[in-house]
Amino acid sequence: MPQQQEEWTPAGPYRLKSGQHAGQTLEQILLHNIIDFLKMKWALERNASNPLHLNGYQRHFQWLIAKFDQLAATALCRECGQPAKILPAVGSSQEGYHFVPQPLCPACCAKSQWQRASTVSLSLRAPENFRSQSDKKRAWEAIKAALGFPKKITGQQLFELLAAINHHSPV
Ligand SMILES: [Zn+2]
Repeated sequence: MPQQQEEWTPAGPYRLKSGQHAGQTLEQILLHNIIDFLKMKWALERNASNPLHLNGYQRHFQWLIAKFDQLAATALCRECGQPAKILPAVGSSQEGYHFVPQPLCPACCAKSQWQRASTVSLSLRAPENFRSQSDKKRAWEAIKAALGFPKKITGQQLFELLAAINHHSPV
């Protein structure tokens, strides 16, 4: 059976009716509270064992993640113009990381001034790879900046940006 979430586009941002974030939209939480968004994602992944019976929240959540990663896949390497997959990250888990919001392809990264740096993938999941909350947050800020998000982007604007992505965009 084809993945139905590929064809389905929600009508608007998903507003939570209860819980700690009641009144906020999933889009706002993704933009401004990546720590809680990732916790909600883990909870969802634990509970959504049957992909054919997703409720509206689960369906919207998965749509958001898939669309964000489609958007991230359109980022181009600032050196060669080929698809960019990573950002350089300098530091260590003890001292904390500094993330460079410059999308690069692995080949250009390997021959740049960042060749000895760590890297973070341009993906919504990438902040999960860092242990400390401040690194998670900084990684997320760098990913948003690398994708050209305005600082004051609203949940509604993010929704519209993601909803406009063509299903056949290169991945
Ligand atoms: Zn490149």
